[in-house]
Amino acid sequence: MEYRRLGTSGLKLSALSFGTWVTFGRQVDATCARALVSCAIDHGVNYFDSSETYSAGMAETLLGSALKQLEIPRDAFCVSSKVFFGACSDPKPTQRGLSRKHVTEACHQALKRLQVDYLDCYFCHRPDPETPIAETVWAMDTLIRQGKVLYWGTSEWPAAAIREAYAVASREHLHAPTMEQPQYNLLHRQRVEAEYAPLYDSFGMGLTTWSPLASGVLTGKYARGIPEGSRLSLTSYKWLQERVDMTRVPKLLPIAADLGLSPAQFAIAWCLKNPHVSTVMLGATKRDQLEENFKALDMLDKIDDAVLKQVNVALT
Ligand code: NDP
Repeated sequence: MEYRRLGTSGLKLSALSFGTWVTFGRQVDATCARALVSCAIDHGVNYFDSSETYSAGMAETLLGSALKQLEIPRDAFCVSSKVFFGACSDPKPTQRGLSRKHVTEACHQALKRLQVDYLDCYFCHRPDPETPIAETVWAMDTLIRQGKVLYWGTSEWPAAAIREAYAVASREHLHAPTMEQPQYNLLHRQRVEAEYAPLYDSFGMGLTTWSPLASGVLTGKYARGIPEGSRLSLTSYKWLQERVDMTRVPKLLPIAADLGLSPAQFAIAWCLKNPHVSTVMLGATKRDQLEENFKALDMLDKIDDAVLKQVNVALT
């Protein structure tokens, strides 16, 4: 495993990390969750991601139990949660958003579900137009000073909102955001590569990126329909089928094959080649998937400048 600094902070995260969206509490039960976390730990993963909203809090519960049962020392792993959407299907006005109240309550609930005394990373899962950014920055700063959170960040915030958060923190001498959590994969690049480009040097912003396989689409497994039990077969995730552009995937498959990589390994290695990426967060429902995906780390040298150019041409 390779370990990368989270932006310019001193926190070193495994270049490949493991998340719990859709899977934990929905496709994956407690036994399977423990096996997947154990597999990740065996491969050197030290960072695990969740959110209040994943399976209405159940993902955090399963992740916390797995880490506890595996007796991983608290100083050897990092865990993150995210706040915004709420942890129930019909949240009351105070049970969602980025108000001081909900940011504080959601943190306390995440600590309980994850069975930890502090969150290493805590993200504002989306921007909240109904809460002043200054209120959220103050709330995050308070949690950090209370020792309940170590680093805070944003997820899918426009660059202008991130700039405003930094400006508030700088003006008020508060802890500034350390990282962003954006989608980043071969089919979804604009925000990380263009919109955020000035923020890396200006603020030392790190990235914990999500959906390296575009929910599995970049494995090529959807080329001949939707396999039973796969993410896109889940009725509650039908909306994903419309969001992900599958038409460009066939153009990428021959490039991966020429390099002797599986499509999944190629897609993950491609994400890792971006030096602004602190960690690529993987998702998996099966141990075999993780075993295959971790091999991407050994293949980075195969993705040279010529291959990167070939990808750009194929995708235009
Ligand atoms: P991916 O794009 O890598 O999708 C993971 C899914 O793809 C797996 O659950 C599995 O689904 C399938 N898959 C993975 N590997 C293989 C393989 N080798 N062969 C075939 N199928 C494979 O990542 P996620 O979308 O899960 O995102 C990773 C993490 O990022 C999440 O768990 C979450 O923690 C975070 N995230 C954050 C978001 C945010 O807004 N901040 C949004 C989304 C995710 P299946 O077996 O069901 O087909």
